[in-house]
Formats: sequence, C-alpha cells, structure tokens
Amino acid sequence: MGRRGLDSALQAPVQNLHGVGPALALRLKRLGIDCIEDLLFHLPLRYQDRTRLTPIAAVRPGQDVVVEGIVRVSDVAFGRRRSLVVRIEDGSGLITLRFFHFNASQKNNLRPGTKIRCFGEARAGASGIEMYHPEYRRLEEDASVPVEEMLTPVYPSTEGVSQITWRKLCSQALSLLGSGVSDLLPGESGNLAEALAYLHQPPPDAPMDLIHAGRHPAQIALAFEELIAHNLALQASRMSIQAAGAPAFTENTATVELLISDLPFKLTTAQSRVLADIQSDLSSDVPMLRLVQGDVGSGKTVVAACAAMQAAANHFQVAVMAPTDILAQQHLDSFAGWLAPQGINCGLLSGKLTAAQRRKVLEDLSTGLLAVVVGTHALFQESVAFQRLGLVIVDEQHRFGVHQRLALTHKVDPIHGRPHQLIMTATPIPRTLSMVAYADLDCSVIDELPPGRQPVTTVMVDNSRRGEILARVAEACASGRQVYWVCTLIEESEQLQAQAAEVTSEELTELLPDLQVGLIHGRMHNRDKEAMMASFKAATIDLLVATTVIEVGVDVPNASLMIIENPERLGLAQLHQLRGRVGRGADASHCVLLYQKPLSRAARERLSIMRESNDGFYIAEKDLAQRGPGEVLGTRQTGLMEFRIADLQSHGDLLPAVQEKAAEIGREYPQAASALISRWLGAATDYGAV
Ligand code: ADP
Ligand code: MG
Repeated sequence: MGRRGLDSALQAPVQNLHGVGPALALRLKRLGIDCIEDLLFHLPLRYQDRTRLTPIAAVRPGQDVVVEGIVRVSDVAFGRRRSLVVRIEDGSGLITLRFFHFNASQKNNLRPGTKIRCFGEARAGASGIEMYHPEYRRLEEDASVPVEEMLTPVYPSTEGVSQITWRKLCSQALSLLGSGVSDLLPGESGNLAEALAYLHQPPPDAPMDLIHAGRHPAQIALAFEELIAHNLALQASRMSIQAAGAPAFTENTATVELLISDLPFKLTTAQSRVLADIQSDLSSDVPMLRLVQGDVGSGKTVVAACAAMQAAANHFQVAVMAPTDILAQQHLDSFAGWLAPQGINCGLLSGKLTAAQRRKVLEDLSTGLLAVVVGTHALFQESVAFQRLGLVIVDEQHRFGVHQRLALTHKVDPIHGRPHQLIMTATPIPRTLSMVAYADLDCSVIDELPPGRQPVTTVMVDNSRRGEILARVAEACASGRQVYWVCTLIEESEQLQAQAAEVTSEELTELLPDLQVGLIHGRMHNRDKEAMMASFKAATIDLLVATTVIEVGVDVPNASLMIIENPERLGLAQLHQLRGRVGRGADASHCVLLYQKPLSRAARERLSIMRESNDGFYIAEKDLAQRGPGEVLGTRQTGLMEFRIADLQSHGDLLPAVQEKAAEIGREYPQAASALISRWLGAATDYGAV
C-alpha cells in the first residue's frame, strides 16, 4: 500500500488548489507541505470562537471576542507611538481599538458613523478595555451578517502565509476529502477523515475543554498514528545505522581490567553492570547505540573512560563530546589521568585553540597519533578527519541535537562501518519519555551513587537574610571547605550574566575580606576559565562566584556549600544539575536557595521539590509535569520530537500501545511504515535517511 496508491486527488500537488502559485507553494514546501494530503495533516494549534457576538459591556480583558458597533471617535493620537484610536459603541458600551500601523484608507474606512465588526483580544488599556490591531470588516448599516458557524482554526504558520490563506487552503483540501484518507494503521478501523475534518473545523458546540487537553477522540486517534510514525522513524534510523556494521573491539580486553584495578576506588555495582553492557556492545560488529542515564555524581565519566580504553586497545580512535569548554577540559584531565598510564594519547580540540595548536591536533588525529580527542562543537567541523574513528562518546546529551551526534558518526571510513555510540545523560528521563524520544537507543541506568556520599541538604532562604548566609559562607571556608555562589539571570545574555556575577564577586570580596574569592563566567577567555577552575580545584580559592556555566559536570569534591541566588528563575533540571556540583565528597553538603520575594506559586513549588528531594528521577518526573516534555528533553532548540498533534503529557497513556503497534508494523508491514513516516514526518526529517 504505497503512498502513490492512495486517493489521487489528495496526492495532487498543492498548486492544484485555487490561489496557490509558485511563490506560495515554495513557502508551503518549507513546512514540508507538498501535496493536498499534507495540508490535511497540517493541524490547527488552537481555535478562536467567532461564532458569537459579545456585547461590548460584557467584554473582559484576556478574552478573544467578536464585537460589533458604530464608530463614534476616530483620531490620531500622538503619544510615545503615533496611533489611530477608534472608539466604537454598541448600545451596551464603548470599546477602544488601537492601530499602531495604519494608512489613509484605513483611517477613512474607520471614520465616525461606520458600522464595523471586529475580532481580537481584549486587554486592559489606558482608556478602559482596548483591542490592538483587531481584525475588522465594515458592515452595511442594516444588514445582519451571520457570524461564523464553525470555530475558527489558528494554524502554525511561516512567514508570508496568513491565517486567512491557511483557512482557505485547508477548507479546499477538506472539500476534496471525499472518499477519505487511507488508514495506514493495519488492523485499525478509525475514521481518520472524520477526525481530520473535525479538527480543522470543529462545530461551535465542540467540547473545548477536551480539545484543549488534547483528549478529544479525534485528537487521540491522530496522536496515536503520529506517535507510531515517530517511533517507526527512530526504528528506521537505528536499523540503517546497524546495517552499516561496526568494528568489533575484541582484542586486548585485559587492558580495561588493568585500568579498573589502577583506579583509586572500586566501581559501584551499578557502574560495573553498565560497563558490562557497554563492553558486550563494543565486542560486537553491530554499532552500539546506548544511552547511559545516571544522576549527577553517579560516576559516568569513568565508565566512559573504560569504553574508550577498549576502543583504543583495539587501535581505534575515540571522540568525546562535551557541552562546554570547561567540561571538555575537565574530561580531558580525567581521561588522560586514567588512560595515559596505559599508553593512550589524549588531546583536546576546543574552539579556542590557536591556529597552530589546532593544526597539530588535526594532524595527530588524521595520522592516528592521537587516540582520544575530547572536544566541544569544534569536533563537528568538516575539517576534522579521523584516521580510524571507532567510538563516539557524547556527554550531557541534552545539550546536543540528535543531528550533531549523527554528523560525527558520518566521519568514518566506510570500511569500518559506523562508530559505536555511547550517550551519557545526567538528566534522568522518565520512562514514558525515553520510550518515545530514544526509541533508537538501548538504555542503561547507573542507579547508585558511590559509597559515602551524603545527600545534599537544601534550604530556602529569603534574600532579606543574606547576612546570615554570608556568615555561613565564612564559617564553611574557615573550616577548610569551599563554596560556590551562583548568580542567575532571566536573560539569556551571557553579557548580563557576566556583569551580575562581576558585581556580586566585588560585593562578596568586600564583605568577606578573609576569603579568596574567584569569578568564572562564560565571557572569560578559555585560558582564564581553565586557570580559575584549576585554582578552585587546588583550593587556593575559597569562594567561587559563577554563572550557570558551572551547571554541568564540574567536579570539585571539597566544595560542600552552594548558594544559588534567585533560584526561582531556573527550572528544576537546571537546579538539580547545579546542586549536583556539591555533595561529591565525603562531607555533608548544603545548598541554599536564596530567593527573592514574592515567589510565584509555580516557583515556590519548584523550590519545595528541590528541598524535598535529591533524587534526579523524581525531580525529572516533576519537571515533566511542570514544563512539558519539550523542555525536559531539551529538544525545543534541536527540533527533535516536535509533534503536530501528539503531546507526551496528554498522550502519555498511549505510549505502551504505540510501542506495541509500531513494533508490529515495523516487523510485518514495512510499506505502511514508510507511508506513515512520510505522512507525519515528511521531508522535514532525516532520521530515515541516515
Ligand atoms: P557524573 O556521573 O556526574 O558525570 P563523575 O563521573 O563526574 O559523575 O563522578 C563524580 C566523582 O565521583 C568523580 O570525582 C569520580 O572520580 C568519582 N567516582 C566515580 N566513581 C566512583 C566510585 N565507584 N567510587 C568513588 N568515587 C567515584
Ligand atoms: Mg559528568
């Protein structure tokens, strides 16, 4: 049942519709819309209710409403911004319309005495209730023009395609729905055509609560299909990688044992178990695709180093990707510390090397002199050629997009197939999510911390008690401990963050004259950052003022107190990561959430969760409930897992059935699989192509 065999009217190009010329067709193509069926699967984000007129007196701020009345006033106001201010009256009251962009003909259209109907969002303004730039139309004085019969869909759009265009296109597509859309799910007999028609044009009495929650049967039917399509796409990606084969690292396995026996500690049971999974993957000629989840401090790095050892002992190269320069440097130190004694060369490739240093590293990679290279994004650059790349290790996965990871795995001589991949994340991923997001990966969990760790005690302190906190910092440092002081800002701007941290470090230097205060932020030169981290590790600095650059991975076991300023600005995952910087040694550690009043309810709840729990999995579940899967997976930015209709929060209950069905289709109906992938993921994806 190939895509070509489907109802041909729906497979026709969008140009067949009225009003679609080459320019519009190109814009639609950018959204992956080529044929008419693609339009049907371009579903509304939300709906507007234009089925009722609201008396002006009944309009409340925040509502989207249709109002109708006679223009009483139409004036240009010269305030901070010139605007056209129009007041209309309907017998019940007056409302103000404001246009910041207008021309002479618009002004003429809206002259006093004209009857208009407009739709927009009401807001509280300077002159009572106002609407900014409402959509409007002039009405004949006595004509009674019917309101809309259906709820009005609002579509996800792209530049140059108006909502009116979307509505016209989609209703044309719906009128061709006729015989229906083919059901691609073998063995299901849902009525997809009905579901599509309903969601494009819901009737005025549609149960909006249900629709907003994503729980209308029409949405559930489509979400089910969409989730299956995503799962199939990941399966397809996994199969194509595995079909390429990989080098099997079966030689010199004793070297890994040697490395382990040289460690100053004994691996935990969980570390050994996960390492065994990895070792067995690496000894096979099918590429490893493994995700290792382990809470902060669970000791993922040493496990990764053992994997690197196995690859290097088999004369293959290893690329280790870290999300920040600081972390790359720290990984280099750890890897080199463990691997160099076994005769393995390790090097660093960061964006900030001098041209000469960079040339040398690149040369050593291409000749194979360098066995392990640790780096940041610089590792993806085209000019990086490996002699024999056999293993890619990605740390803190959520910072990298799936595409970046794939880019590295392409850097391989085809004789050797694909490199093995080890992905490590400290963001525990709730099971429901990982079933969907990482359907292409096998998963191991390091569910145990090294012995002797004490949970971090977390307290919430209001900023007016800053003085007490300073005393606590002084006391901790006096007894030989070290302290982090983390400055946060809402703004993403590195520059503002850096400034805030600078001011704080000056203030703290003044208030705590006996302490050595250091400062680290993202705007510093790499060299200076490294020097600062080295001083902090060497304990020549007592108090390190930092921005959230230290969020991931940094490891200084003697630091046992962390102050987080304005923690209410951060999400749970980020707070958990930050707090993970303490509690790494044998001493009892503390984290002070130094918040600014007043706290919003959501912020108070977040901070309370932090106070109650040190368990990354528990916190991740809460984070999922608060912020949604896109944020938890960090995929907002990377474009992975963007659904049209499915929502992992509303449709989490479907996942077991999704998995089962997807497995069945993958096994028994490969044709349906590719049709489903193409329907839901279209050209916008390259999972299947890799
Ligand atoms: P994460 O999983 O957060 O990346 P790290 O790999 O940075 O954790 O490990 C945290 C600290 O614990 C490091 O100092 C590391 O050397 C140490 N460590 C790792 N495994 C063990 C172990 N089995 N016993 C004691 N300390 C360990
Ligand atoms: Mg780590």
